[in-house]
Amino acid sequence: MSAPECNGQCDACTQAKDCPEEKKTQQKKPAIDRRLIEMRMAKIKHKIAVISGKGGVGKTMVTVNLAAALAQRGRSVGVLDADIHGPSVPKMFGISGSRLTAGPPGIFPAVGPLGIRVVSMDFLLPSEETPVIWRGPLKMRAISQFLSDIVWGPLDYLLADLPPGTGDEPLSIMQLLPDMDGVVIVTIPSEVSQIVVKKAVTFSRQLGVPVIGIIENMSGFVCPKCGAEIDIFGSGGGEKISRELNVPFLGKIPIDPRICEDSDAGVPFVVRHPDSPAAKAFKEITDRILSTVESKHKSEG
Ligand code: ADP
Repeated sequence: MSAPECNGQCDACTQAKDCPEEKKTQQKKPAIDRRLIEMRMAKIKHKIAVISGKGGVGKTMVTVNLAAALAQRGRSVGVLDADIHGPSVPKMFGISGSRLTAGPPGIFPAVGPLGIRVVSMDFLLPSEETPVIWRGPLKMRAISQFLSDIVWGPLDYLLADLPPGTGDEPLSIMQLLPDMDGVVIVTIPSEVSQIVVKKAVTFSRQLGVPVIGIIENMSGFVCPKCGAEIDIFGSGGGEKISRELNVPFLGKIPIDPRICEDSDAGVPFVVRHPDSPAAKAFKEITDRILSTVESKHKSEG
């Protein structure tokens, strides 16, 4: 097959699979700079990925609020939004449209609330509506550059918000991030979600990354009018699957319309509604994560 309009962008080309030019281009690509990634990552004490089997279960909401809750406890925090196709961390931090700045040592993250350093594909796109139409290898390279070229500086925590499922981006992060402390898995109570949680646990185990625990989000709703408790997505599914899979259960977060409002307003709900039952539950979850990760670190140190 000839490549009459070849512009060398094999990763974005729909005909690359059958094109003889692709092989040549692939050979010219620079190898992922693992040494540089290790050098940058050596300055970060703890690395945690937040994952889910399915989309829409509140994974990004958990990442953003976990980052804020850690920062409230005096930890320095960075968030890598590794969702190349649907980056929404910047929106939830109220910093969409920010741009990354470059200097001699590399590229500097944007800075969100509480001094949280943020890197997202969103900062590289011309507008919110621009889609990213990339195949696997290009996504792997983008993620490796987020790790090697970004000057994260010294941090206590780097949280990676991964897209749902077990595709290219989760795989890249798990393979490229050295010394990960583990993954936090977010689910909702329904049975349908439990099946994909099993996949997420198996995925982490196969890659040798510890599971810090499971969070059950959207767990019950208290009607603000009558006070009745309604289990919209069922109840206890996260705890049940944790027991079944022998992984820690980190806690439940109820449905609260303020969480949605705060996400849209770009302020983490642990900051905007610190006294709400959801924020209180979230603080307990954060304490469990802190004690798991930091006690392990101490015993190793
Ligand atoms: P995911 O990253 O899993 O796709 P998001 O974190 O983007 O999901 O959450 C999807 C939507 O649901 C967002 O608008 C978020 O604010 C909202 N949301 C998440 N958890 C809750 C909750 N417990 N109560 C109310 N709204 C929630």
